[in-house]
Amino acid sequence: MFVDVAKIKIKAGNGGNGAVSFHREKYVNAGGPDGGDGGKGGDVVFVVDDNLSTLVDFRYKRKYVAANGEDGGSNNCTGRGAKDLIIKVPRGTLVKNAQTGRLIADLSGDEPKIIAHGGRGGKGNARFASSTRQIPRFAKPGFPGEELEIQMELKLLADVGLVGFPNVGKSTLISVVSAAKPKIANYHFTTLSPVLGVVKIAQGNSFVMADIPGLIEGASEGVGLGHEFLRHVERCRLIVHLVDVSGSEGRDPKEDFALIQKELFNFSPDLAERPQIVAANKCDMAAPEQIEDFKAFIQQQGYAFFEISAATTAGTQELVEAISRRLQELPPILEYEPDPILVEELSEQNGRRFDILREDDGSYTVDAPWLEQVLRSVNMDDYESLQYFQRVLRSSGIIDKLEEMGVQEGDTVRIFDFEFDFVN
Ligand code: GDP
Ligand code: MG
Repeated sequence: MFVDVAKIKIKAGNGGNGAVSFHREKYVNAGGPDGGDGGKGGDVVFVVDDNLSTLVDFRYKRKYVAANGEDGGSNNCTGRGAKDLIIKVPRGTLVKNAQTGRLIADLSGDEPKIIAHGGRGGKGNARFASSTRQIPRFAKPGFPGEELEIQMELKLLADVGLVGFPNVGKSTLISVVSAAKPKIANYHFTTLSPVLGVVKIAQGNSFVMADIPGLIEGASEGVGLGHEFLRHVERCRLIVHLVDVSGSEGRDPKEDFALIQKELFNFSPDLAERPQIVAANKCDMAAPEQIEDFKAFIQQQGYAFFEISAATTAGTQELVEAISRRLQELPPILEYEPDPILVEELSEQNGRRFDILREDDGSYTVDAPWLEQVLRSVNMDDYESLQYFQRVLRSSGIIDKLEEMGVQEGDTVRIFDFEFDFVN
């Protein structure tokens, strides 16, 4: 089954808890604190696996959880970090936050992408010893791993997308120019999944052609098949528009051409603008006048025109060479840039967890890994940004907690490398 969208839940591992422990040795009393930190939770990491071509596996398993870090131990033993959970996806998979629609990553290249970060381990009591606090009887729990629901969408990576009405001969063409073997039959919708074929040309050159299932009128509005497959044309560098010029099904090739153009435009104006080559297929069955008439119509609109017969392979080599030449002038396959993460998302997928510690000198240290990311993106010299940061502190409950702990106007509040005077 070809599945090109899927929604799953992922959760990175929690950090292990810090330990509370005191050094013990025979005949030595009042040993110092030696509780170690917890280990880091496993990340959820996505990688491309070229053996996969659909997202079908994710229809059956919908929740993926990475392991938690181990708790810290006595003797200053740090808990072991957990292994990452690796999720394999087909090349061209987009990973989005299901709630916000934000693009998190485009799995088109080979480098693994961390989609959910494992929680940091909590600090053991050894970390909290100070001159005035020699017997810290507390440690910190680990931070939770990020948890979110993601929407995956496969957008195939192909240089060339073959589009056209059902039965015009797309599958036949790809089967004669590449080693791909799609189903070919004389009825509509034989192709229910896009098929990728590698087309080899002279001097070791090659390009990837995708046979996109037949578009029908209204496809861009979700009528019947086609619409859902248009996403696979979106990244193609070049569109090859195949038309049955013989009108073997009682159709008019000019009308067919115009209708498909409209479908492409309705799906995305961008697609209609994509470089395009038009190939008139089934020339073996067409009358010369039919071909000439259609050719004039196409060339008038400024498209390169080829006459072929996929069934007899007449003209297919010329078409392939023209495609290859054209591709050399075109930009590489589009990879999408991830959208910047939103603070709401950051705090939500981290469970808004924070710790506040009161230091001996009366200052406060706020610990929250997600806030660190927020802080990095905030320009502290800018009034607006600062206001925004204040709002985050308030909405996350950090201000309330500080007040509960007795913070006073002018007290120092520390968050990572930053220090502020508390102002209410
Ligand atoms: P698709 O739906 O666009 O993938 O079309 P297919 O490749 O499945 O072809 C539909 C029908 O048209 C099949 O019966 C093919 O054998 C036939 N066909 C494809 N190309 C040609 C051609 O160049 N000439 C003729 N006469 N028939 C063709
Ligand atoms: Mg087909």
